[in-house]
Amino acid sequence: MMLRVRFHGRGGQGAKTASRILGDAAFNDGFNDQDFPIYGAERRGAPVAAFTRFSDGDITERGFIFSPDIVGVMDDSLIEDPLANPFAGLRKGGCAVVNTTKPSGTLLPDRKDAKIITIDLTGMALKMLGKPILSSGIAAAVARVAGVSEGSFLKAVADELREVGLSEEMVKKNVEFAMAVYGELAPLTLRTEELPSKLELVPLAVVVSGEGMEDVTQTGNSAVRHTGNWRTYRPVIDYRRCTDCMICYAYCPESAMSVGEDGRVRIDYENCKGCMICLTECPLKAISQSGERGLQ
Ligand code: SF4
Ligand code: SF4
Repeated sequence: MMLRVRFHGRGGQGAKTASRILGDAAFNDGFNDQDFPIYGAERRGAPVAAFTRFSDGDITERGFIFSPDIVGVMDDSLIEDPLANPFAGLRKGGCAVVNTTKPSGTLLPDRKDAKIITIDLTGMALKMLGKPILSSGIAAAVARVAGVSEGSFLKAVADELREVGLSEEMVKKNVEFAMAVYGELAPLTLRTEELPSKLELVPLAVVVSGEGMEDVTQTGNSAVRHTGNWRTYRPVIDYRRCTDCMICYAYCPESAMSVGEDGRVRIDYENCKGCMICLTECPLKAISQSGERGLQ
């Protein structure tokens, strides 16, 4: 039996680490495993995908997972993004675990043949870690659904996070976060169909363009890629403090700062990705952050 899992997240949320934690946990349970990421645009906030296969036999497949048994979606804004297309190829009888506050019935209404599980990982991460870092949370959700044992899983969380250099305090907090998520869900008996002998190649839009969207390798397509839906937080300027020194303009990596007709600095929220570099660099502390999608 082989399980194929595909994680979809945004650069910086921890999709690659989630795939590693899951693979390591399955290995601790006695399975063979593979895990690897693809970064696409290589920018913080850009859609990324990562893959884990685990099996009680040899794994002879290689390459991207086009027909997953489980998808883990770390950011619900990816669902509408033709560049990410996270449910592409989800197999009949499979399962999607989605980080969202939306009800599960609204997410994939045309796929009655797949189970949709929703959980507010961002809210839990902000409470428990103080940051919207989701690797251990999404890995916990998928591991639980896939039936990976708790002991193997928590060992994998600690091992992998130590390996990426997290402090012991953050490792401990992540283990607690993972335990909380694991405890929220129940294992599923997945009845996905066996793959046909020839792999069904469903385009994965991180690599191959979706409808109406330029391929990531095409030149001059940045303007059509609105990065505003990447945000967890938006910067807000307090014009009573701001002196229009334009230091934020100089530092903004998305060129999302400009000068309005009234001569004051403006933020283009269609392209601001919420990195908060402007907040850090503003010498007058004239920029604050405000939560998106119901966050404080
Ligand atoms: S860096 Fe601060 S003070 Fe300067 S223009 Fe930006 S918001 Fe205003
Ligand atoms: S948060 Fe600030 S620096 Fe970052 S993209 Fe938005 S406007 Fe630019």
